[in-house]
Formats: sequence, C-alpha cells, structure tokens
Amino acid sequence: MSKRLKLGALTTPRKLRSGKVLAKESTKKTSPYFDGEKSLPTNDRAKDRSPVKIKREATEDKEDAKSVDVTSSVKKKSEDIEESALSADAENIKIEKFDLKNEITEESVDVKTTKKGEQWMPPNWEIILKNIREMRKHGTAPVDEMGCHKCADPNASPVVSRYQSLIALMLSSQTKDQVTHAAMQRLNTFGCTPAILATISDEVLGKLIYPVGFWKRKVEYIKRTSIILLDKYDGDIPRTVKELCDLPGVGPKMAHICMRIAWGEVSGIGVDTHVHRICNRLNWVRRPTKTPEETRNELEDWLPRSLWSEVNHLLVGFGQEICLPRFPKCSECLNKDICPYRSKSSEKAKK
Ligand code: SF4
Repeated sequence: MSKRLKLGALTTPRKLRSGKVLAKESTKKTSPYFDGEKSLPTNDRAKDRSPVKIKREATEDKEDAKSVDVTSSVKKKSEDIEESALSADAENIKIEKFDLKNEITEESVDVKTTKKGEQWMPPNWEIILKNIREMRKHGTAPVDEMGCHKCADPNASPVVSRYQSLIALMLSSQTKDQVTHAAMQRLNTFGCTPAILATISDEVLGKLIYPVGFWKRKVEYIKRTSIILLDKYDGDIPRTVKELCDLPGVGPKMAHICMRIAWGEVSGIGVDTHVHRICNRLNWVRRPTKTPEETRNELEDWLPRSLWSEVNHLLVGFGQEICLPRFPKCSECLNKDICPYRSKSSEKAKK
C-alpha cells in the first residue's frame, strides 16, 4: 500500500477500543508534508525549495567577501560566475566577467598608493637627485656635448632643425652619442632634409650613417619616414607622441624626447637604457621593472612633472660617467651611503 493511502486511512474517523470516537478535528492531516498539497503541484514544490537554499548561500558569500583578502575576493567572484553560468544566459555571464576584470584593475591601481592612501615615493629621492645634479654640474658627459639636442645644424630653419633632431634620435638607439653625432655631422654636410633623404640611394645613405647600430634597418626607416613626412606633414614632423610613434622606427622613448627637443613640450619621460638601469638600482620603481616602458610608467607615477624634462638628460650623463652599466664607480658617487644597490652589493661582498 502506498504511503498516501496509509495516511489517507488514518484520516478516516474511527472508533477507539475505549469506545470513544475520535473528534472531528483529529481527522485533520497529521503530517505537514501535505499542507497546501492541492495548490502546489509536486514539481513546483521542489523548484520552490531549491532556490531558497541557494539564495541564502549567496547572501552569506557576499557578507564573507567583505572581510577576506583580495585573492579570496577574486576567487569568490570566480565561483559566483561559475554558479551564475549554470542558470544565467550568456549575456549575464559576460557582465559578471567584465565586473571581475574591473575589480582586478581597481586593485592594481590601489597598490600604487601607501596604506594611508598617500602617493608612494622612493626614500631619499630628493637628496639622491640633488647629489646627481651636483655630480653633473660640469656637463662633461658625452650626452652634454653630443646628445641628440646637439645634432641639428644650428643654421637650419626650425622645420629642418626638427627633422634633423628626429633623425638624430632614430640613429641614437643602440648607438653611442659620439657615433650618432659624427653620423649627423656627415648627414648635415651632405644635406639632411626630408626631400633629400627620401630620394637618396640606400647605398649612399648607408655609407653616411655607418657605423650606427642597426644601420641597414635605419636606412629603410629614415627613407620611409621622410616620404611620410613629405606626404602627410608638408616636410615637418608631427606634434603628438601618437603620431610620432606611428612613424617607422620611432618608439615612445624617442617620441617623448623628440617632443621636448624639437617642440619644447614635455609629454613624458624619455627612458633609455641608462635611465632604466639607474632607476632600478636606486629603487625609484616600486618593484623591479623589465623594460624601459615599464620604468617610464613607474617614474611618471611619482616624480613631480616639473622634473620630467630634466631627469632624462641628468641620468643619461650620470650613467655615462659614474653609474656605469658594468662596474659602477660607487666609490666616487655622492650617493654611495644611501644607494640601495651599493648597500646590497656591500652585503653580498661581506658574505
Ligand atoms: S652608489 Fe653606485 S650604484 Fe649607487 S648610484 Fe652611485 S654609482 Fe650608481
């Protein structure tokens, strides 16, 4: 006999051994299992129970998320996304994933500030900078006499002078200042304008710029750039970092320095190999950086904008004379007592 029939039999009024007949209200169903049976079909009941449980868990998750760390929060969010994926449509899943991405981005931005919400700055940076200025005050580094800002013909028109500065910057990558400067002298004597270099043969141009680093590739870049400048900018150079970076062989470092020396505008910090190395040695980046572009982002994050135009020239010369790539002259450096790189090296030597 089924459970329903058994219970149904119990609901029939009956006489007890004592002869007493069960009162009418005692015939009421004894199990709450059947409460509301008629108005709620079995399947609907099952549906109704499950969400109650899920809803409660979801609420608990939200409460917990407030007190856990970021990793747990992100993990929890991922779990929520997976849970949503079971019941939500594709559009909802997309929104969840987008929110998660935003949450991570916001966290990374927060990392740049201290616990008190103040802007992070490296310890002693002002003293270190002052010492570097002191060490650089005589202007004896190669960059002082032969940097790209010294390569344009002083008698050239402003438009040609800007073009020559750009060409000098293109030649300067992976090349010593002395070599770049000598190549620019030869180019200027030959005639360094976009009209001339756009039509010159590869062989002649190659001979003029040799032995700058990657000279063969630079021949191609210079010719293509000269044609673009004639076609698009009437022989002048563009005035934005983005447009400069669109030219063949021009990257962000060159573009920012070009904006400064050709247009007199400070658009960002030019970070070359010297600036990149020294910033990492001095801990002027919050964590070690792998590329000059990463270093530029870190540096621009905390260095006051009023110092942006100065810092490239200052550090390049410092890197050429004292903080050399190999065997830096720490004993001659005014920062030797506060330099993190120097103290690390001394500790290693003691061990
Ligand atoms: S102490 Fe040495 S490593 Fe540090 S800034 Fe000076 S030269 Fe560079």
